[in-house]
Amino acid sequence: MIQLNSASVTYKGKTALSDITLHIKKGQKLALVGRSGSGKSTLLKLLYENQNKLNKNAALIPQEYALVQNLSVFHNVYMGQLGRRSTWYNLLNLIKPFHEPVTQVSDILENLQIKDKLFEPVHQLSGGQQQRTAIARAQMHDGDFLLADEPVSSLDETQSQLVMQLLCEQFETVIFSLHDIDLALKFCDRIIGLDHGQLVIDTSTDRLNRSDLLKLYEK
Ligand code: ADP
Ligand code: MG
Repeated sequence: MIQLNSASVTYKGKTALSDITLHIKKGQKLALVGRSGSGKSTLLKLLYENQNKLNKNAALIPQEYALVQNLSVFHNVYMGQLGRRSTWYNLLNLIKPFHEPVTQVSDILENLQIKDKLFEPVHQLSGGQQQRTAIARAQMHDGDFLLADEPVSSLDETQSQLVMQLLCEQFETVIFSLHDIDLALKFCDRIIGLDHGQLVIDTSTDRLNRSDLLKLYEK
């Protein structure tokens, strides 16, 4: 489904990822783990760009959410499916939302426990509520492939478990970047460990234990 062959990324001459070879199969739930700065976001972006080049539009939850702060939660979430409708429908819906998309967005927000924020502007929300808005926008997206960059970093333990469960149920193939290794071990079947831009672990979860992963953070 996705293949990288000796991929490298540099920022202004500084290597962020080096020599990454990776084959991701449909149906996998994959976690990218590693210290801050190890290259997780860079790898996710590279995978996202590769998918877009192939016209396989993947859903994305970026690390910094990329929400329009002055627009409501509804409008931000609705943007997840702009490509599905005509420009006229989208413009009219922006001015006076139609019943159908409001119901659809409300249902997603209800599961994420932020339905009461439907028409609130995003800048009035807490960090965790903004993160859930970005999650809802990805859930509005068509398709069965998701790339999620630390999607639960601002959520509490119970919410994190709930969101991981929802995303794993909705999307057939998911690549998460996660700093919580317990979530990675619980929800993912394959773990990729990055260290200084290099791929140092690529194993199925059942062959790994917690202490193998903790070593990534010790050095
Ligand atoms: P992670 O997501 O694991 O924290 P990143 O992929 O964000 O790591 O970063 C990997 C490396 O690339 C880091 O050393 C970081 O400083 C560098 N980097 C990331 N984005 C940029 C950028 N836009 N410009 C320059 N350097 C960057
Ligand atoms: Mg990152």
